[in-house]
Amino acid sequence: MSLGQRQLDVLLAEGLAYHKDDGEYYVEREEQAILTLIEKPDLWVCDFCGEQPVEWSYRAKDHAMGAVRADRGDTNLDIHISLGEWMACHICANLIEQQAWVALLQRGVQGFARNQLQDVEMNDEKEIMLTAMIGSVQEGFIKARTGERERI
Ligand SMILES: [Zn+2]
Repeated sequence: MSLGQRQLDVLLAEGLAYHKDDGEYYVEREEQAILTLIEKPDLWVCDFCGEQPVEWSYRAKDHAMGAVRADRGDTNLDIHISLGEWMACHICANLIEQQAWVALLQRGVQGFARNQLQDVEMNDEKEIMLTAMIGSVQEGFIKARTGERERI
């Protein structure tokens, strides 16, 4: 499950996320935050590109993911936990079924930049970092996936 601005607004309102001094967000009690969002289907976005609506879900084992942060000049490694099912829009689900991983990665980078990094001015360096981050997340999905897709 991904976080976009609308999801963050809900978490901020419910006291599960807050702004840090440097303007970034911090999500507290990640598991509770995800459970809160699961109860609000109108907020669900594709875990691969950030678009709505989501039409498919994929079961996957919970796992830790390393993610390179793309919003700074230096390299930071965050550890995130992937919990439960992954949501996918129609287009990303089709790319997954075709195992079109490069196309899925390109769509993910474009979608993430458009949907979740609106305030960040992209340059080549940030795009490389973002590509590495999304690639790492998608690689985690490929390894953790446990079955066929299901209609939501
Ligand atoms: Zn998608």
